[in-house]
Amino acid sequence: MKARAFIAITACKLTHWLLRVMGRGATQLPGRVANKIYPDLLGYLARDVRTIIVTGTNGKTTTSRILEETLREAGISFFENKSGANLLNGITAIFIENCSATGRPKKKTALIESDEAAFKKVGKYTDPELVLVTNVFRDQLDRYGEVTHTLNNIKIGIQNSPHAVVCLNADCSLTASLRDEIGNKVIFYGVNEPIYKHRVREESDAPYCIRCKHEYEYEYITYGHLGKYHCPNCGYSRPDPEVAVSRVFISDADHSEIEIEAAGEKFKALINLPGGYNIYNGISAVAVAYALGLDVRIAVGALSSFECGFGRMEKFMLGDAAARMILIKNPAGCNQVLNFLSNISEESIFVVCLNDNYADGRDISWIWDVDFEVLAGLQDRLSLIYLSGIRADEIAMRFKYAGIDPAKIKVQKDYGKLVDAISSQKKAVYIMPTYTAMMDLRALISKRFGYKNFWE
Ligand SMILES: [Zn+2]
Repeated sequence: MKARAFIAITACKLTHWLLRVMGRGATQLPGRVANKIYPDLLGYLARDVRTIIVTGTNGKTTTSRILEETLREAGISFFENKSGANLLNGITAIFIENCSATGRPKKKTALIESDEAAFKKVGKYTDPELVLVTNVFRDQLDRYGEVTHTLNNIKIGIQNSPHAVVCLNADCSLTASLRDEIGNKVIFYGVNEPIYKHRVREESDAPYCIRCKHEYEYEYITYGHLGKYHCPNCGYSRPDPEVAVSRVFISDADHSEIEIEAAGEKFKALINLPGGYNIYNGISAVAVAYALGLDVRIAVGALSSFECGFGRMEKFMLGDAAARMILIKNPAGCNQVLNFLSNISEESIFVVCLNDNYADGRDISWIWDVDFEVLAGLQDRLSLIYLSGIRADEIAMRFKYAGIDPAKIKVQKDYGKLVDAISSQKKAVYIMPTYTAMMDLRALISKRFGYKNFWE
């Protein structure tokens, strides 16, 4: 073993231990220390580990959690990173955690959620066996630039992963176009029919052909720019998916019932998560299982046993209110929540908490790309709308322009008072916070209501 690797591993474990003793949670620091000492450390640690990488704009975390369940049920021993640690340093630290002092891996399979930009290096070092790309949407412009920039990062990451089988979303014209740029074996997955009866009017993140810039035509759209597209000019079109949702029977506030077609067989499946985007999270996880040569039935079973986690529309009681919380971070994700809301019938309270800290994205102009106008049409079902967070006033302005009755809108920047107001009402509550707002709310709720880490 290389002495330098040993020192780097020891330094990382020591830093991690020190932070714990000091009562500090996991940070980027232990991994950063290790990478400073030995920049190729991840490559060294991953050499005997079979790595599965999940990347893409939306759905990484939920898909990874479904895959966790699948691997567990398939009897595969693995380790994984959590969403907060999806950059190079965090991923390095997770590999160090999984190894002995001499760098030998304790578990031979890694399930790694990777940030799109970090994937370039993560792919190179880990030489993954499988890469899943969920989708490419416009996300926090100030951090990632335009969609083509994100797409390019993912492309380089795959080119740095020459041995990987790559699962691509056929319904995302951007993601699917990667096939022409890479030499890897590709397995496409997708949804073969529309999901929603009522869809919000969405700004497409990819209206023009990636090859020739002509406008796409769609046979159907599932959401955002996803669907069955083709370019009438150059002929670029959605590839036929090998693993597909062949039917959508029901998609409502709690679950979806679908039929999955893979390997020439059909399976009825239940997804215990609301919203069409979770159908994509489900089918992408099934595609990974299929690509790994696992029994598809195990993946289908994992879907129905999977429960929501914090920030992914999980349910919990907030005093008298039945609350659901869903993290929002970009227009596409936010529009999906609105899609979902426009298909429910119970009377509800709606909460948006908008922060603009670094982890939320500093630029909040994306709220103007969200079709909040759809809420104006739901006002008979919305008893109140609370707006909170650092930028509550901007979101209030947005809601005013969306044509929502000002009498229904309350700005409450104090989270304590906000939670008081919500928890005293016997209603369904939908809370949509950005990342740091979610962390603050979660701390307050667990303190106030005695929930202990209920989001894990
Ligand atoms: Zn074209």
